[in-house]
Amino acid sequence: MPRQYDVIALLSGGLDSLLAAHLIRRQGKKILGLNFVTPFFGKAHLVEKWKNLYGLELMAVDVSREFVDMLVERPGHGFGKMLNPCVDCKILLLRKAVELMREYGARAVITGEVLGQRPMSQRLDALNIIKRESGVGDLLLRPLCAKLLPETEPEQSGFIDRSALLALSGRNRKGQLALAGEFGITDIPTPAGGCLLTEQEKSRAYWAVLRFAPNPAPTDFAVVKNGRPYWLFDSPTLDRASCMLSIGRNREDNERLEQLAQKDDLLFLPAGFTGPTALGRVFADAPWTNAEVFSAASLTASFAPKAARSFELDGKPLKMLVRTGGEEQVLEVKPERAAGNGRVWSAYPWEKAREEIRAEAAAKARARAF
Ligand code: SF4
Repeated sequence: MPRQYDVIALLSGGLDSLLAAHLIRRQGKKILGLNFVTPFFGKAHLVEKWKNLYGLELMAVDVSREFVDMLVERPGHGFGKMLNPCVDCKILLLRKAVELMREYGARAVITGEVLGQRPMSQRLDALNIIKRESGVGDLLLRPLCAKLLPETEPEQSGFIDRSALLALSGRNRKGQLALAGEFGITDIPTPAGGCLLTEQEKSRAYWAVLRFAPNPAPTDFAVVKNGRPYWLFDSPTLDRASCMLSIGRNREDNERLEQLAQKDDLLFLPAGFTGPTALGRVFADAPWTNAEVFSAASLTASFAPKAARSFELDGKPLKMLVRTGGEEQVLEVKPERAAGNGRVWSAYPWEKAREEIRAEAAAKARARAF
């Protein structure tokens, strides 16, 4: 039999959701915290630490596939300033929370939302949409701003004492910091729990995956997250791309890229010099040509500054080990970034990504108007 809990709490790892959980626990409720994990947010590796640090029962719930599907199909309520689909994200997470609420016999779901704190997902109309479309309805309680919202079922039934809830609103965080002091939380986490979809650098890389990967999977986003993402474009207009390459920026990236390599992928490793590891993602039915493999090896070698300088001095090619499908070969390459034949290795520019995101949103709005 699964264990029983009174309340399910969404815990992003940020301060607000943590405070909301503490407020309800103070009412004697048994809480199960959920930390949702996708390639863009979630901290499964910190769950054990948080359990001890905050004295809360907590589990990581991986929703990567559902989240990526939502991005591929495009979020119904659009993106925020970057590639953050906040309203649809909350709807998706709450749907999952409702499932778990039923499984664990809980009577409410709580979040750390604060009315008016974030422009996209914490306006009153957005809060109502999220409540309605997630199916959580009146069982959703937002303890930090509950007194500014209509009474929910757990409050009406007396399960939760409304008088002990708060009326926080806006972007000022004084109330939260005072409350953190009250609960003895000294290690103050960041407000949002760190979502990569709100960062421009990551958003442009993720948008390129959505644009050019034939059937984007969670692991494709993990690959571009752990390195400098490059695509091989057919021309300098950057309209069509094929090969996706992620080049490690440091030792941690290099190790992570090795772990992320799938059977048919191409792993590029420097042989006999210090340089980055790179992962070439090979999509189904889209094998790379020999020329593309060679060009990716040259590009990767160009990110080894010392070795590239020695090539300039002595003209001796650099050796790159290429591993794929359990086989290895060594290529001798010139460290260079040009792809040749009119093709171009490039990261995807944010300006272009933003234009495309806006154009899609405008087309959608026009379609709705008819
Ligand atoms: S910032 Fe990221 S995690 Fe937070 S609601 Fe938006 S998309 Fe979801």
